[in-house]
Amino acid sequence: SGARVRRAQNKRLPEYLERGVDVKFTDVAGLGKIRLELEEIVKFFTHGDMYRRRGVKIPGGILLCGPPGVGKTLLAKAVAGEAGVNFFSISASQFVEIYVGVGASRVRALYQEAKENAPSVVFIDELDAVGRERGLIKGSGGQERDATLNQLLVSLDGFEGRGEVITIASTNRPDILDPALVRPGRFDRKIFIPKPGLIGRIEILKVHARKKSMAEDVDYIAVASMTDGMVGAELANIVEVAAINMMRDSRTEVTTDDLLQAAQMEERGMLDRKERSPDIWKQVAINEAAMAVVAVNFSDLKNIEFVTIAPRAGRELGYVRVKMDPVRFNEGMLTRQSLLDHITVQLAPRAADEIWFGSDQLSTIWAETADNARSAARTFVLGGLSEKYHGISDFWVADRINELDSEAMRIVNTCYERAKEILQQNRTLMDAIVNELVEKKNLTKQDFFHLVELHGSLKPMPPTI
Ligand code: ADP
Repeated sequence: SGARVRRAQNKRLPEYLERGVDVKFTDVAGLGKIRLELEEIVKFFTHGDMYRRRGVKIPGGILLCGPPGVGKTLLAKAVAGEAGVNFFSISASQFVEIYVGVGASRVRALYQEAKENAPSVVFIDELDAVGRERGLIKGSGGQERDATLNQLLVSLDGFEGRGEVITIASTNRPDILDPALVRPGRFDRKIFIPKPGLIGRIEILKVHARKKSMAEDVDYIAVASMTDGMVGAELANIVEVAAINMMRDSRTEVTTDDLLQAAQMEERGMLDRKERSPDIWKQVAINEAAMAVVAVNFSDLKNIEFVTIAPRAGRELGYVRVKMDPVRFNEGMLTRQSLLDHITVQLAPRAADEIWFGSDQLSTIWAETADNARSAARTFVLGGLSEKYHGISDFWVADRINELDSEAMRIVNTCYERAKEILQQNRTLMDAIVNELVEKKNLTKQDFFHLVELHGSLKPMPPTI
């Protein structure tokens, strides 16, 4: 109410202006090439004359498309911050009012203020709330929204090409926007902001770590690996929660462990939003546990980073992250033995399915990894790595393809038996991992190796092929 009083006293205080926006591009991480497009928008402000002189049209509206939390709002602020212009913002859901005419007059007021304080960025969050195709909503609510949308179109046209007020809107649904909104001169430029990849997540974590006191040896790669599928908002939260963790223990530095724990908590939040039947959780857990248990027996594959059955965007099942001997892996030089070990690991889910569910109840959960094993076995034979066929050119003759396949099959079968043997030797370990996975969904490196220490019976297997 303090704000309202002040506004009553001073009519000139703009309602939608956000004061002191000093966000810069360096505050937004993991953008890659998108940054160039945004730098261009800054230039529309800073070098507007140059564009106009050369007859280049400055867009009136830019659409930032992408899922919630990837940093669209932050980016819009950074554009204003970099250009040194005023920043006006409103959420489109605030336009949508029950009373006819209120939405439209808010739009008018917003643009009036932006114009009086130009140059400025107008940011409209969740544009789809008001920008859905007209006529789709029936009744008076629909009419009101249409009036608001019409006013928005009029306002956008008022600044077309002049570069004094540029509107940036965010949406996760560019596909449902009213076609009139995306016509040339209006929101005719779309920039897609995807979820960050591994490198992006590392960069985002580091940006937020800047403001905290972090231990020198924080393993950002480990934290980024654990947070596959997460967006900037979640990663920012992880750093916050980790710092709170540190304070609670009266320590002075945030450690990798603080971050990993915070990541698990953030993950749990995501998990609670996804439902699976207990049977399915268990089956996925057996599948992942089997790969981890077999892999940990092999020297090039034993560096398990984490085991998870947490559902992630774009990946239905869980996964095991194994770190291979980085030198050889980067050079693309896998040894004969590590290739065989890899095949064995890929066959572990199939072997586990047979052991835990019996051959009459096999599922297809292992189909993809079994495919990997088959193709790796062919590579193995084709490369002249099998004892039977040393010659690199043995299979260049078409009529020997059957021989290649039968040798690959022999290797697959041998590796399969090996996988089964390892799993059978480690039934207690498997059960322990499966139980903990079903309960916690995620095992960190520490969790996993703790169980291996308690229950594992590791036996280095000599090469048998
Ligand atoms: P959106 O508008 O896409 O929903 P926001 O811009 O509101 O996402 O992001 C919320 C917060 O998450 C930001 O204020 C920032 O702290 C953090 N964040 C999101 N994306 C990034 C990023 N790419 N780099 C740094 N921080 C980010």
